[in-house]
Amino acid sequence: MLDEAARLSALRNLRLLDTLPSESFDRITRLLAVYFGLPISGISLTDADRQYFKSKVGVEHNEIPRYRAPCAEVAETKLPLVIRDLQKHDYYADSTVGRSGVRFYCGVPLITPDGHGLGALCVLGTEPREVTEEEMAVLTDLAAVVMDQIELQHALGRVDPSSGLPNRHQLMNDLSDLSHHSAGTEQIISLLDLAQTTQFDRMIRVVGISHLDSLIAKVARILNDNLNGQTLAYHIGPTQFVFLSPPGTGMSDHLILLEKTMLSLGSEVEFQITMTPSIGSMVFEAGECTAEEILRSLQSAVQDARAHPSKIAFFSPSFDVQHQRNFMIQREFPYALTDDNQLSLVFQPRVDAESGICKSMEVLLRWSHPDLGPISPAEFIPVIEASAYARELTMWVVKASLKQLAAWNAMGLRLNLSINLSAINLQEDDFWDRLGADLARSGVDSDQIEFELTETAMMIETERSQDLLSTLSAAGIRLSIDDFGTGYSSLSYLQKLPVNTVKIDRSFIDDMSNGNRERVLVQSMITLCHSLGYEVVAEGVETQEAAELLTAMGCDELQGYWLSRPLCAKGVVKWLSEQSLYRFRYMAPVCA
Ligand code: C2E
Ligand code: CA
Ligand code: CA
Repeated sequence: MLDEAARLSALRNLRLLDTLPSESFDRITRLLAVYFGLPISGISLTDADRQYFKSKVGVEHNEIPRYRAPCAEVAETKLPLVIRDLQKHDYYADSTVGRSGVRFYCGVPLITPDGHGLGALCVLGTEPREVTEEEMAVLTDLAAVVMDQIELQHALGRVDPSSGLPNRHQLMNDLSDLSHHSAGTEQIISLLDLAQTTQFDRMIRVVGISHLDSLIAKVARILNDNLNGQTLAYHIGPTQFVFLSPPGTGMSDHLILLEKTMLSLGSEVEFQITMTPSIGSMVFEAGECTAEEILRSLQSAVQDARAHPSKIAFFSPSFDVQHQRNFMIQREFPYALTDDNQLSLVFQPRVDAESGICKSMEVLLRWSHPDLGPISPAEFIPVIEASAYARELTMWVVKASLKQLAAWNAMGLRLNLSINLSAINLQEDDFWDRLGADLARSGVDSDQIEFELTETAMMIETERSQDLLSTLSAAGIRLSIDDFGTGYSSLSYLQKLPVNTVKIDRSFIDDMSNGNRERVLVQSMITLCHSLGYEVVAEGVETQEAAELLTAMGCDELQGYWLSRPLCAKGVVKWLSEQSLYRFRYMAPVCA
């Protein structure tokens, strides 16, 4: 009996029971049936009370009772068994196999290197039959091939050692087998991610890898307890698990299982506060998409799940389209940086409200991709800011702006440019060194430059960013707060920074047309900023009414489509020459 317990444990550790059909085993059973010229063959594994068919030809069911199964005898005795005619056999005539109309049986044992009989490789026929010596030799050889295959799969690292669950390799294999064997069937699959990569890295630094190993083992146990024995679980990355529901599972059943699993994880595992376990799920038709596509969709669903209160999300193709486009933007941007024809600058005038004189322009980046066409900065800047190229982007804009200023200076046109910076630029330790060198080389005065930073970027309080802002200010470069009113900054904090100008976000200017309350809000923003010593620029001025109102409110500068859309460098010169003729064209009497 002890032997039987060890045998069963060896069998279960191989994780072959209740797994998906596998082409590598099916090839062997097909070959066997053809070689013997018989209708039935199989690789059958002897579980506690059943014979499970890992692979089969000519049989519908996946298992039969172990009781009175010839293969069970082969596994127990670890000896070949040939039954010429089951109908005439004292013991097997009345067995499940015997009653099914099978007459001939021939099986050889599948034995592990430790000597455990796992089951049998067998071939069956509906007529009584003999076996030749040569046939027996082939069957024995093929049984060895089956065992090699089993050992190979195990040795190839198809099981993750920390969780004991099948790994990514096995999942890819199973998904590809599924697309052959069950093409057209609907499947539900989910990915559980315990933590984001950054959270994971931080956790390893804080608690160490051994703590993580024990956490993973605990999670694997909870998954095993919660999944109903039919749903397959895989461990595909340090913090990632996949569940594949059996065909025919309804979406609601799958959801219940997921929620139950999340609840158990939440109550039984002490997560580090920085971990946010999230589940992404999808339904797919076997054979419709590749294993790689399924995994990519699941990863994208997990990203969406993070933003959802339930931490569970279903894959939606529109999200995937967005992710794919972001991926393309990231991939293409480095090429744009070195291609003279893709990136360019446009300039949007900032006009003095009282006099209508334009002394400054905001620099806005434009990207026209050879295949994708023009890409809006509102789309690509956030993507690049999150990549390693935020530094290069700003460097490109700064260099091109200085070049333009130098060209205008040489024409006798003295303008100032305000350049948008990303929060991450403030963390660069050599930002000033490079900028100072570029400024000196270009001959442009530092007071011709202003940097715009959002409130949120200004609020990131590190020693480096504070130092950089002070250095820039001391060098005579002006600083402004962009999109003011959209962040959560405290003016008392911002006051400590060397900021000259506040740009009121265009949403407030837009809203002024809604009513008096909105106008009062803008008026108080202007008054407050003035009392703190800031100059105020209104963004997004689209109508004459807004321009007049803001001027009456004492706003210092105006920027927006009503004054001018962003212009190319040539357009700037043309616009300015027209402005000197019609400077006061739009001005209304300020004080009636
Ligand atoms: P932003 O800094 O708030 O720039 C102003 C945006 O408002 C520009 O959009 C501009 O074209 C648009 N705009 C100007 N006047 C009006 C108006 O009257 N009505 C409306 N509806 N919109 C107006 P754009 O050029 O698409 O840029 C979008 C954002 O992309 C910018 O917002 C800025 O955050 C970012 N960006 C653009 N160029 C750069 C750059 O060189 N570096 C960095 N870091 N960010 C940039
Ligand atoms: Ca701006
Ligand atoms: Ca802005």
